Amino acid sequence: MRRVVILGSTGSIGTQALDVIRERRDRFEVVGLAAGRNRELLTAQATEFGVEHTALAADTGADADADADVGAATAEIEQLVRDIAADVVLNGITGSVGLGPTLAALEAGRTLALANKESLIVGGDLVTALAADGQIVPVDSEHSALAQALRAGTDAEVRRLVVTASGGPFRGRARAELVGVTPAQALAHPTWDMGRVITTNSATLVNKGLEVIEAHLLFGIPYDAIDVVVHPQSVVHSMVEFIDGSTIAQASPPDMRLPISLGLAWPDRVAGVGVPLDWTRNQSWTFEPLDDEAFPAVALAKQVGRAGGTYPAVFNAANEQAVEAFHDGALGFLGILDTIARVVDEHEPPSRLTRESLAEAERWARAAADAAIAAV
Ligand code: NDP
Repeated sequence: MRRVVILGSTGSIGTQALDVIRERRDRFEVVGLAAGRNRELLTAQATEFGVEHTALAADTGADADADADVGAATAEIEQLVRDIAADVVLNGITGSVGLGPTLAALEAGRTLALANKESLIVGGDLVTALAADGQIVPVDSEHSALAQALRAGTDAEVRRLVVTASGGPFRGRARAELVGVTPAQALAHPTWDMGRVITTNSATLVNKGLEVIEAHLLFGIPYDAIDVVVHPQSVVHSMVEFIDGSTIAQASPPDMRLPISLGLAWPDRVAGVGVPLDWTRNQSWTFEPLDDEAFPAVALAKQVGRAGGTYPAVFNAANEQAVEAFHDGALGFLGILDTIARVVDEHEPPSRLTRESLAEAERWARAAADAAIAAV
């Protein structure tokens, strides 16, 4: 029996994790739940799964109502992670606010099933230095695919990682054709049903950029040996190329419950979670190179990943502000990347990377992004 804490239980990842567990109560026990501000759903989940310990970020703010400042408020969630004896903590919180809970889970010695890629990217060396070998199990479908494919050879036999990208709703458009696309269009993802930030990030390809940094940090592979290829069907979730010329790919119909279940049960598989591919019908999988001019996010992410330190945190914070502004109608679609590039360019990194200097860099990046957006 694995005891599981689910952070972000009311979101897309969290509710799908509970779907997996609902039918397998003999294998998993939910011992803690946490969310941002959706008290009603959190309470219903706690009742259904018999969970005593819950935390709501909104309660940590001075004002416990729905308008409380959730941004700075994960202290109670971190406490819950430390206090409750659990085998696995699934971090399905959205945004860099997930960093505190990620660090708390690692410090407490829990296995961290990580969907909240932002905490790894923002925390960078702080997170990787704290994590024991194998303590972080990726939940992102691409990194779950890479982890599965990496089982096929030794570290020394790996030549490159190939991360697949659906290309998002605007695949095939030239840069000029992206002027004036709307938030509603950006939210219409062709293959995955996800939360608002990650769906927007999939349309800009910022999500893929974040995933390249995530792959580097998780698997220690240099940026030059991590490629992105566009694969619109989202069936091959990523691949590993080995030194003998062999490429191992992981394939399944797109369904996050599969990587979530592996995150919860790693290294074991959970029977019956996903529907396998149907080989009795015709299907074709296509692959195409990424258009770096229309979608410069991956190249920019590699640049900030190489620079390291506070740069990935600045990239992510500027993006979070820009995405918010895009949905508020204050910024055009192309303005998202323009804002990030400008903020990254203006950034002056601190001499030492600490949690404080990281937080300060993030604050600076959010303010710099807001100023750049206001000046548009
Ligand atoms: P959602 O927006 O659907 O859910 C976000 C969750 O985080 C909600 O439970 C929300 O609570 C909670 N939350 C928001 N702010 C805070 C806070 N300050 N403190 C604590 N909890 C908070 O996002 P997704 O589930 O789509 O994404 C979650 C993470 O997983 C992201 O990092 C994303 O990149 C990653 N991911 C998601 C995939 C997907 O298919 N959805 C695929 C791969 C990765 P509330 O509802 O109460 O506000």
